[in-house]
Formats: sequence, C-alpha cells, structure tokens
Amino acid sequence: MTEIKEEAIVNENGLNFIEQEIKADLEAGKNGGRLNTRFPPEPNGYLHIGHAKAFIMDFGAAEKFGGTCNLRFDDTNPQKEDTEYVEAIKRDIHWLGFDWGDRLYYASDYFQQLFDLAKRMISEGKAYVDEQSSEEIAAQKGTPTEAGVNSPYRDRPVEENLDLFERMNKGEFDEGSMVLRAKIDMANSNMHFRDPIMYRIIKTPHWRTGEKWKVYPMYDFAHGQSDYFEGVTHSICTLEFVPHRPLYEYFVKELADDSYCPRQIEFNRLNLTYTVMSKRKLLQLVQENLVSGWDDPRMPTICGLRRRGYTPSSIKDFVNRIGYTKYEALNHIELLEHSVREDLNKTATRVSAVQNPVKLILTNYPEEKTEMMEMDNNPENPAEGTHQMPFSRELWIEREDFMENPPKKFFRMSPDKEVRLKGAYIVRCTGVRKDDEGNIEEIYATYDPETRSGLPGADRKVKGTLHWVSVPTAVKAEVRDYDRLFAVENPSAEEGDFREMLNPDSLVIRDNVMIEPWLAERAESGDHYQFQRLGYYTVDPDSTEGKLVFNKTIGLKDTWAKEMKKSGK
Ligand code: ATP
Ligand code: MG
Repeated sequence: MTEIKEEAIVNENGLNFIEQEIKADLEAGKNGGRLNTRFPPEPNGYLHIGHAKAFIMDFGAAEKFGGTCNLRFDDTNPQKEDTEYVEAIKRDIHWLGFDWGDRLYYASDYFQQLFDLAKRMISEGKAYVDEQSSEEIAAQKGTPTEAGVNSPYRDRPVEENLDLFERMNKGEFDEGSMVLRAKIDMANSNMHFRDPIMYRIIKTPHWRTGEKWKVYPMYDFAHGQSDYFEGVTHSICTLEFVPHRPLYEYFVKELADDSYCPRQIEFNRLNLTYTVMSKRKLLQLVQENLVSGWDDPRMPTICGLRRRGYTPSSIKDFVNRIGYTKYEALNHIELLEHSVREDLNKTATRVSAVQNPVKLILTNYPEEKTEMMEMDNNPENPAEGTHQMPFSRELWIEREDFMENPPKKFFRMSPDKEVRLKGAYIVRCTGVRKDDEGNIEEIYATYDPETRSGLPGADRKVKGTLHWVSVPTAVKAEVRDYDRLFAVENPSAEEGDFREMLNPDSLVIRDNVMIEPWLAERAESGDHYQFQRLGYYTVDPDSTEGKLVFNKTIGLKDTWAKEMKKSGK
C-alpha cells in the first residue's frame, strides 16, 4: 500500500478550509450575510462517489451554517444529456439524506438571460463571431510561455457580430462553422483568457427547451452567471477549476456589484484506488457491457455502491475521514471498505450461510430429531435479541473447514479433532466418504450431548468454532462475490487502454449457497446481513420468490485497521 500523506485537514474547531472561508465571509457580512451553495451536475451520467464528496460539502455546509443549497442541472449540452440521468441523480442525492426543497434549477432556465448578456457584450465590443474551425482556433492559442495569434475575425464590426450571432441561433449555419468568442487577450498568461469560446452551434434538440436554441453556452460562460442568477454565494468545485477562476470572476463582473457577488472555492477531487472516476470511462464500461449497468455493484457509482450494500452513513463517514484539501490525492479503497464494515458491524443481523457446502453427518444424533438453537442477532447490540435455528443429524459446513491432513495450526475440522458447531455442540470427526476421484462427499462425526451451548458442559475449551446450516431446512441461494474492478492500483495513471486493466476475476457467482430458513423467510431487497465468519452481504433486487440473490458487500477481515495498527496510528 502506498504511504498516506498526513495533513491537518480541519482546524481546532473541526472546520475544514472551505468551512473556514464560509464562516469568515458570513462574519464579514458579505452578500448580506447569506449563504447559498449549489451542486451542479451535468445530466450526462450517473453520480459516483466523487460527486458525493462534492455534494456532501455543498449541502453539508449549507446545513451547518444555516444556508441553502440549490440543485442545478448543468444542461448546456443537448448531445449528451438525458432525463434518465436527471431522475437517477435526484434519487442518489436523496438517498444520501440531502434535499434541495424547492431549489431545483436548470442552466437551461437561463438560456435567454445568457443570450441577452452575450449580445450586450457584443455591443460593448467584448465578444465576436469567429468563423474559423476549432482546429484553426486551437492552433492560434499559443502556449503558456508563448502568446497566441489574433483571429482574423477579431475586429469585425459590432453590427456584423450581432447579426451573425442572431443568425447562428436561427440555425442558418452548420455546427462547427462559427463560434462566439470573448474578446479578452490572446497574450494572457492564463490560457483561459485567450479569447475563450462563449457559444457554439448545436442542432440536436434540447430535452427541455426543444428547438428554441441553436447556440449553447460553454461551461465558463454559463456557470458563474447561473450562480449569479440564482443568488449563489459560494460556488464550491474541484481543483481543475482553479485556472478557470479568473474567467469565472471576469464574466460574473459583467453582472455583479458590491452588494452581492458569488465566489468560487476549489477542493481536491476524490480518486479511489482500483477504479476510475471519469464519467466518460464509466459510460464506456456500461455501453460496452463490461459491467452489468450503472448500478453494477463493482461500479464506484452511488447506485452501484448502494446495490453492493454500502450505506449512506458509511459513505459520509469515508468522505469525512479523507477530508477536503487543496492537494490532489489518491484515496485507498480499503478506507471506504473499513467505513462500511464498521457501520454494518453495528447494524447487520447475524445469520448462517454456507457458501461451499459439504455434508457433515452426526452418526450418534437421532435421525428424526430437530432441536432449535438460539442464535444472537447481533452480539454488538444485545437489544436485537435472538432467533431460532434448527439443528439436525445432517448439516452443511464449509468444504474449506475440513482437512484430512491438516498443517499444525489448522484449528478447524480434521480426523479425531474436536471443534464446536456455533451455538450448538462440540463434535469429533470420525471419518469421511469419498467418491471414485477421491473428492470428499460426506464427513462423519459424533456429537457430545453434554456440550450444548448454554449447558455447563459447553465450557469445555476447543480451538475452533464452525458455522453450519441444517440440511433438511436449508434454502439454496445465490451469492455474487466481488473483487476489485481493476487489476491495477491507479488505472488512470497507467499508459494504455483502461479496459485492458479490468480485473477478469472481479465477479464470482456462487449458486449453491445454503442459508438458514429464518433468513430465507425474512430477506428483502436491500437488507444487510452478516453471514457468520464470511462477511457482510446485501440482498440484491434480482432476487425472486424462488431464489434469493446476495451481493457480498465486504469480507470481515479489515486490511485497513491492520495497516493502521502496524504503522502505529
Ligand atoms: P464531466 O464534467 O467531465 O462530465 P464531472 O465528473 O466533473 O464530469 P459534473 O456533473 O460536472 O461531472 O460534476 C458535478 C460536480 O461534481 C462538479 O462541481 C465537480 O467538481 C464535482 N466532482 C466531479 N468529480 C468529482 C470527484 N472525483 N471528486 C469530487 N468532486 C467531483
Ligand atoms: Mg464537470
């Protein structure tokens, strides 16, 4: 594991740097003492855990300081956007416990205002229509150390610019044939000031405004102004927007005055090991069927994490632990796993399931007898009570829990050794029956009736305890076992096609898992359980009347806690 960088990410009052800036602005009475944040997703994909980090800050800061937070869909590109995404985004934000109330907005609500502002800037000589191709414009941009070249269209008369811009919007010109550019400075050391594009022609109808517009504003021209129109005071975004900030301020100044002016503050993105966070790449995984969908439990999307069994509090806890800084970081997926393990340990009901079953026969246990054993629902919380689990002569145990010729430290079942069956009896293995190929078909043992859990004889010490499920009442289920989606720690940093770095063994389906009847009767889609000794599992919506399907959320072994202990933290 790579070393984690230690930084003080909160001050003595527990406030991170963004919250400190907000507090200072409020105390200074800026914007009339108002706080209004916004979360501005583009509806061109599902939200992932990185977006969760962003909106936990946007909604969280508003909650903390008595402000409001808008949800604004940044729907400025009709070619890529869809209502499916809008609905999914709303659902995911609600699931994490946040609500925008009546503050739901769309950048497309401001198309008229933005268009009017653009025309005003043209009239004031601050914008012009450029008829060059995007390649020509790019070639004239220069480099950070070398000035760019002025467009030959830069100084055309205002009237001509106004006329062309209107006609661009009427659909008289082809896509890509013209753009509206801000007339700023082709030699500016900030590349974003070198006559940035304000509008481009797109003829695809917009899902909200239909055929009304043929020109659409670029992010830099739309974002700050939308903030302004909505009364947003703090526009919090990720570090890649740092170089855009002067342009944000430049355009906002066209509208704002001293009484109210939104400001942009940037923090570091969330990047997780063994996954990708780019919406474009996630969309590719979905479209090319490399995963089962946006909510595939291996995806870092919020709906994928939900289906996998992550809880809202575990995601919030993780975001809180990694914190908000001004430095790019790569966050370890083990810490996210640690958060969900800690949460489910407190809340998940304990049940018994055998994932790789082999039959154990207790030769001295009466054939027709069934006893009900009392099992704790959650030893972490005795108030959760107990449930009954049938015990009988024939039981399923894990194949891996038996070894004929065990090494020294094997404390599970082997010939002539005693082990405890959890919540039941101590048993001693007496032999096995094998098929013609030498595979073990049945294991035989005798039980000691004096050692039933709760009786005085139960005190006898044995090294191992095994989980089990009674054969006659066991119900078959499917378990989907997941591993890392990618085989390399940081796929985005590697050369080559990211799809070739996928882990081919990221999904293993076990279709012969034996579960106890109590679980089979009560399990509902979305429920979380701990399968004794195996891990945490969540009921998948693919479950049917006849067959339950479980997603393995996470195993019991906490690699993160172990690492921390080793490094003395
Ligand atoms: P793109 O703009 O390339 O389509 P995006 O992931 O930035 O992708 P947006 O819908 O623009 O998508 O994101 C909405 C907000 O979420 C933005 O303010 C952005 O800064 C923030 N965000 C996106 N990815 C992350 C991340 N990995 N960590 C934290 N915040 C993020
Ligand atoms: Mg973005």
